[in-house]
Amino acid sequence: MALETAIAKTHWSLTDTEDPAKGNNPWTRADFARKAPGVDWTALFAAAGLGAQQRFVAWQPSAITGEAALIGSEPLETWKDLLAFHLIDRNSGLLPKAFVDERFAFYGKTLSGTPALAPRWKRAVGATNGALGEAVGRLYAAKYFPPADKAAVQAMVANIKAAFSRRIDALDWMAPATKTEAKAKLTALIVGVGYPDKWQDYSALRIVRGDALGNQMRADLFDTKVKLARLGRPVDRREWVMTPQLVNAVNLPVLNALNFPAAELQPPHFDPKATAAVNYGSVGAIIGHEISHSFDNNGAEFDSHGRLRDWWTKSDFAHFQASGQGLAKQFDGYCPFPDLCVKGEQTLAENIADVAGLSAAYDAWKMSLGGKPAPVVDGLSGEQQFFLSFAQTWRSKTREQALRQQLLTDGHAPAQYRAQTVRNLDAWYGAFDVKPGEKLYLTPSARVRVW
Ligand SMILES: [Zn+2]
Repeated sequence: MALETAIAKTHWSLTDTEDPAKGNNPWTRADFARKAPGVDWTALFAAAGLGAQQRFVAWQPSAITGEAALIGSEPLETWKDLLAFHLIDRNSGLLPKAFVDERFAFYGKTLSGTPALAPRWKRAVGATNGALGEAVGRLYAAKYFPPADKAAVQAMVANIKAAFSRRIDALDWMAPATKTEAKAKLTALIVGVGYPDKWQDYSALRIVRGDALGNQMRADLFDTKVKLARLGRPVDRREWVMTPQLVNAVNLPVLNALNFPAAELQPPHFDPKATAAVNYGSVGAIIGHEISHSFDNNGAEFDSHGRLRDWWTKSDFAHFQASGQGLAKQFDGYCPFPDLCVKGEQTLAENIADVAGLSAAYDAWKMSLGGKPAPVVDGLSGEQQFFLSFAQTWRSKTREQALRQQLLTDGHAPAQYRAQTVRNLDAWYGAFDVKPGEKLYLTPSARVRVW
């Protein structure tokens, strides 16, 4: 425990490690021995399959130098204990029941407040998804994501990109040169919908019936080899990092690409039978959110080719940062517990993406109507459907322990506060006739517009 704590102390805060400019520290191979003595780096790189690699990015230099120093200074027996512990801990879900129960007692109950271990079949599905993600995903997509749904979502993506482009045009504070860079980045963005164009070939992975632990270890090694094989090859910007059966979406700044897995594109996020207002309010806002990550406080540091390059004028970036600070303050004020609040800075990139994404989705929905009025459904106007659908996207249940852990460690604000993104959109006030003095009302000058 003492060694683990000493290692942790060499690490950066979450806010610092989310900053690409701070993490962009190119080290040559020779730098490691010189800057971080204590480790036999030649032996380590050879064992890691990195024997020929000459260039590295040292994201947290203090963690590398600090841990290397601890390897030099702490007794070998302590290190053996730590490594043995981590080997067992990492695989404890696949060891005999006593290990599984201990694992759950700590990670499930103590850290997350979960009262009961998930049934065996669910854990088995999880393990299979982890080891053979795209093989499972290929079957999932064939069954649950027909080509018509893919085409419909791609059309929404095109509309939201167009709406975002118009929002860039309309920014009165941004210099033309910055706008040109921003629009080039938007044009070059690759948006993956449902599943990748090419599937992973797993034929080299040996699966043995009855050997869950061995299968897991072989799958881990297979995955590492897939990643190592990318070294020295051109970047494939169409590669996916998420599986189609995952309910999630992601922006990949170094690829300037997005992944929207098929499982994210199911009701209530996307429903081919729902109105455009409902779909734009839900999956449209999610698509807008991911596009906006290209332009949040971190994404804005990458250019259209995914290179870390400053393409902003000084005054534009200052303006952009000032609006970000307004949003950070807004979220600092959300406190689910008397002793613990949302961290506005830690969650800023996500909150910027929520505001900008919802705004772009709203504009895109309006554009999709082509000047015709939105259909009224169950007495709800199009605007009301749009914002209610957004709110319903964030329905969730979280236990106190899990929520406390999220507040301290997650880059995302809790769902209940993400739903309140609407406070920053003028259209929401009109849709529900929200008045001064009401709980969520913000004066127009306090509403944050980033993009
Ligand atoms: Zn996000």
